[in-house]
Amino acid sequence: MIKKMIPTYFYKSIYDIDYEGLYNDGIRLILTDLDNTLISYKETMPNEKLFELKKKIEDMGFEFLLVSNSRKTRVDNFAKAFDIPYVKFSTKPLKRGIKKAIKKVAKGNYTKDQVVIIGDQIMTDIFGAGRCKIKSILVGAIDKSTDIGPTRFNRKLERFFLKRIKKKYPDEYNLKLKEYGENDN
Ligand SMILES: [Mg+2]
Repeated sequence: MIKKMIPTYFYKSIYDIDYEGLYNDGIRLILTDLDNTLISYKETMPNEKLFELKKKIEDMGFEFLLVSNSRKTRVDNFAKAFDIPYVKFSTKPLKRGIKKAIKKVAKGNYTKDQVVIIGDQIMTDIFGAGRCKIKSILVGAIDKSTDIGPTRFNRKLERFFLKRIKKKYPDEYNLKLKEYGENDN
């Protein structure tokens, strides 16, 4: 089970991701988390840097879609302002929100190996991707101090599982999780 919690890649932030590499690997659909991945919990709207990134990603030929576990109207408001299709209350790590995003919102134009999920949480984003057998990118949270209750709980679980992964898969841990696990901002 813990193998499904290991991301395919780790990057410090969404701005550091090698999008060309992803494209060359055949990825065409990017499913991204919202909170602490694109903006912190304190923010509500996309900033200029984020708009530039979105343009770059879409110009490269990716489809970019938001998949958030939050059911708050901030998701609707953000998605509208950012002009991006979205699934809210997606219940990651359950498969249904991810499946819905691929099948309905992205109209089923993609096979699983053309999809990547980006997020800041192992228990939801990365585990959800792993359960769906989809590639994943773990990013450092923008500002962990803004995490809300359920996320704080997930981070505790995450620390528990990180230790287990470190023990069982030390090479993968060192490659993909060490920097994330040891940077407690
Ligand atoms: Mg998040």
